[in-house]
Amino acid sequence: MDLNTPLESALSTKKEYILALKEMGLYKVRDILLYFPRGYEDLSQFKKVWEAKDGEIITTKGFLHGIKVVPTKNRRMKLVKAMFYDDSGSECEAVWFNQPHLVRTLEMDKEMIVSGKVQFSYGKYVLQSPTVETIKEVQIHAGGLVPIYPQHEVITSKWLREKINPLLYLTKEFEDILPEEIIKEEGLMPKKEAIREVHFPSNPKKLKKAQDTLGYEELFLLQLNAVKAKEEWKDSRPTDSSSIKMPMDPEFVTAFFSTLPFTPTGAQKVTIYEILKDMERSFPMLRLLEGDVGSGKTVVAMMALLQAVKYGYQAAIMAPTEVLARQHLVSISKFVEEIEKKKMLDSPLNIQLLIGSLKAKEKNAVKGAIKDGQVNIIIGTHALIQEDVEFDNLGLLVIDEQHRFGVKQREVIVKQGSPHVLHMTATPIPRTLALVAYGDQDLSVINEMPKGRLPITTKIVPPEHRESVYKYITGKIDAGQQVYVICPLIDESDVLEVKSVTAEHKSLQERFSQFNVGLLHGKLKSEEKDSIMQQFKRGDINILVSTSVIEVGVDVPNATIMLIEGAERFGLSQLHQFRGRVGRGNVQSYCFLYTNSSSDLTYQRLNAMVDHTDGFKLAEIDLQLRGPGEVYGVRQSGLPDLKLANLLDGILLDRVRKAAEKIVEKSKDLTDYPLLKSAWLALRNGMEE
Ligand code: ADP
Ligand code: MG
Repeated sequence: MDLNTPLESALSTKKEYILALKEMGLYKVRDILLYFPRGYEDLSQFKKVWEAKDGEIITTKGFLHGIKVVPTKNRRMKLVKAMFYDDSGSECEAVWFNQPHLVRTLEMDKEMIVSGKVQFSYGKYVLQSPTVETIKEVQIHAGGLVPIYPQHEVITSKWLREKINPLLYLTKEFEDILPEEIIKEEGLMPKKEAIREVHFPSNPKKLKKAQDTLGYEELFLLQLNAVKAKEEWKDSRPTDSSSIKMPMDPEFVTAFFSTLPFTPTGAQKVTIYEILKDMERSFPMLRLLEGDVGSGKTVVAMMALLQAVKYGYQAAIMAPTEVLARQHLVSISKFVEEIEKKKMLDSPLNIQLLIGSLKAKEKNAVKGAIKDGQVNIIIGTHALIQEDVEFDNLGLLVIDEQHRFGVKQREVIVKQGSPHVLHMTATPIPRTLALVAYGDQDLSVINEMPKGRLPITTKIVPPEHRESVYKYITGKIDAGQQVYVICPLIDESDVLEVKSVTAEHKSLQERFSQFNVGLLHGKLKSEEKDSIMQQFKRGDINILVSTSVIEVGVDVPNATIMLIEGAERFGLSQLHQFRGRVGRGNVQSYCFLYTNSSSDLTYQRLNAMVDHTDGFKLAEIDLQLRGPGEVYGVRQSGLPDLKLANLLDGILLDRVRKAAEKIVEKSKDLTDYPLLKSAWLALRNGMEE
């Protein structure tokens, strides 16, 4: 037997269990050994029963005697009782509910380790449903830190402990993929030991070290991947070809600022500086600009576009939808008008829109103008890089809200002459997480909002207050304001009882018959979506019912109310994105979070929305409460599920990053570290899928 032995041959168990394991993605011995507990129950505290406080969980030694099923008044419940005697001679009762089989299976009158909750009732101590384990060389269910695995109907923690424990000897086959020098420097455990300790910890200290060891390896591989991707990006441009160096000119920047109707925030200035510094270099920029909704990313992008144009290059900006591309055209045209008025550039700017829905004739004309260099600012959708577009000399590509921009798409960009690339996102991903999920890019963060914005008022609405909110918004709509209603799903067929948009649209149209209620969802054709958005922008639609398709960047300043149905079903950072659709004008805006759930976790999360307007803070809370996969924009990054990596420890992350850089410096193609190399390649393939 080895790590690659299929579980059906390694375990003697029923087919049903093997099937369940497969469903959980566990096929081989390796997989089950790498299936880690989600937590531990501390059953290490040996105590006499009479020493326990009421309700305390204890572990004790002693024997059971006289087990029997006791009839109850309620016929459906079966009570099993036995007496327990500990080695000091004191006695108490042990009870179990609905487990009559224990009468056959539990050994009586033999010394055992017993763990369970002690309850004090009617002057007596009672052990509630204790776990009982015969005394062996290794205790796996009691007497120490007992592993609790993720909850599963068929595969219980008890079952897993019994199956994993005998396989532990195979952990010897796990080799350390981390370089020896790092293991030493960081004081990590050998991987084989760490895996054993994580399942069956010897003590809390060793458990911590084991978790740190395995978490470090996860982070290291991700950071190594990021460092490698960054190197590849640098190498993608041969240094002897024409350079894309665009030296920064402070006067030019000042001139641009003077065309603006406002003073840029400090954060806008800093990020502009970071970007222009990158554009001075001879290898292409790859930078991510993060800034909350409304933080003013467009100005920053505009400065970068101008910088490229100033040096005679073309500059393009790519948006995920046609609505957003059109919106960019409008806002960039406004900037350009002022720039032309103040004669900032020697020659006039020529802007063109390139989107899939243009007529073939128009499209060809635009493409022709791009190819022979008549156009210097191109705004478009994916059509920009997917179709047969040839640029004359592309110097900068700004990519808006495209979280997942894989290595393959980068190849396309390299073919276009490998311009500088600036990604933009309104998703505030905590810096530590961004370093892991987007670690191949440099990071600029706009962490400051323009002054004078009215904060949006957020309220949680339980079902009984639905109608009063409807009355409230009627007044607002009468006063000319507009409303978004977000629903989590498209179709009634979903098992979860969430209102479908279509049904919601119908009922709202009935409820608000005096208004025009529009409907938007992902299954509509892109022209239909566009047309509905245009109607909403014009004010022809008063209430827009939508699925989450609305979330990216749409700008309708007159919309002041955001209603979110089934709010508990969205991540905080996604809720924050929705909320960012309102509060764009100078009227007080509101966000109403509807929920039928009354669970503590729901309220804890939704209250965070009420308490915080800072998207970074909310994303951090999501990261803490629900894990990295729940932070909006991270799943799209291809980040694999992390088991033990600590993504909140910025100091550790920096250290890991430096260590990864050092290794790549020493051995660029990792030939000196063959095990590390194959682990990294496996990770990279997984992330590109
Ligand atoms: P986002 O980051 O969401 O793309 P925008 O670039 O669309 O934000 O900016 C939102 C609004 O704020 C725009 O109307 C823009 O003109 C305005 N704005 C941007 N920067 C500033 C600033 N420093 N002071 C005042 N208003 C600003
Ligand atoms: Mg924007």
